[in-house]
Amino acid sequence: MAEASRPYRLRLPGPTAVPERIRKALSEPVVAHRGPEFKEVLTETAALTKPVLGTNNDVMAFASSGTGLMEAAIANVLGQGDKALILVNGQFGERFVQIAEALNREADIIEAPWGEAVCAEAVKDKLAGNNYRAVVAVHNESSTGAVTDLEAIGAVVRESDAVLVVDSISGAGGLDLQQDAWGVDVLVTASQKALMCPPGLALASVSEKGWNVIEKDVGKARFYWDLRKARKSAAQGQTAFTSPIPLVYSLREALTMIHSEGWPEVVSRHVRLCSALRAGAAAMGLSTFTKSPMLSNTVCVLEMPDGLDGSEVVRHMYEKYRTVIAGSRTKLRGKVIRIGTMGGISEDDIRTDLMLLESTFVDLGWSVENGTGMAALDAALQNAA
Ligand SMILES: *Cc1c(COP(=O)(O)O)cnc(C)c1O
Repeated sequence: MAEASRPYRLRLPGPTAVPERIRKALSEPVVAHRGPEFKEVLTETAALTKPVLGTNNDVMAFASSGTGLMEAAIANVLGQGDKALILVNGQFGERFVQIAEALNREADIIEAPWGEAVCAEAVKDKLAGNNYRAVVAVHNESSTGAVTDLEAIGAVVRESDAVLVVDSISGAGGLDLQQDAWGVDVLVTASQKALMCPPGLALASVSEKGWNVIEKDVGKARFYWDLRKARKSAAQGQTAFTSPIPLVYSLREALTMIHSEGWPEVVSRHVRLCSALRAGAAAMGLSTFTKSPMLSNTVCVLEMPDGLDGSEVVRHMYEKYRTVIAGSRTKLRGKVIRIGTMGGISEDDIRTDLMLLESTFVDLGWSVENGTGMAALDAALQNAA
């Protein structure tokens, strides 16, 4: 087939494929960012976002990738002399550490081995002996596929003066998330993962406890990222600076799709599809990198057998099948492959993923029993139906 006519399959853990309905929403006319038309769109989008985050807080939108809001969270919460406790179990926890360093903010770190998550007990112990302004965690560690038990950690942090800052960039829109019930004080996410929009729009929502800390001005360097400005603007149906207007249209459309499917149904679809892909892969002899009970359902991270380089699998999937999956750019390089199982995906997507993975293994000279994986995948889908 000619290169251009072969379907291009974007199967990364972000950016994810953007459904056609959402792409069409991007072509709506650009209107004034402080006019009544856009105010209506932004207000509606914020309202549709709240159930997905599990919050009654205002939702603030920014032109940014997710990392911008990770930085904003740190810049707004930690003043001079404040110390954070950062939970690290993968690449994005490490990124929070780098951000704190770049902003000259002090941090203690609790590390869990990659593929596991930091437990609430460890956080409780550290909180008992220290005076932290914030505890910082990643909900869904996309580099390993481990999920952090925010409910348990939130219960511990709630008893302290610290605020809980959470990156749910690859969780929100795909995983159960209860910001208010779990006691998450500053929650950040972005458009291009489970929310199935193009990259460039990031969201934050903050609890009252979070605002009490953010409002304090103790040597905080912030301007574009000043969440106090964002809050005032959000209350007027605006953003502090020019909104990425087409992206807001796209998010409104994505959320409309999510709510018409039903938000709980969207969460269970993610569970069902990712578990089935894991079952299929397991029958092929591939186990997940993360063994912890809290496995991600938005990204499937598979360990490669000894002697097979994951980067080869990624390259072959793209070159022969025009299917883009992720390897790793961390210390797991070559050892794992990562397939996005979030956003507007269906049974067909994961079936095709597994079929192409099987073909790739065979192409690369690995023997896999033909059809075993697919039978297991189908059985898992049946059982969960
Ligand atoms: C993708 C991702 C990020 C980074 O987001 P960008 O939009 O690329 O800046 C941060 N944290 C997690 C958990 C992610 O999956």
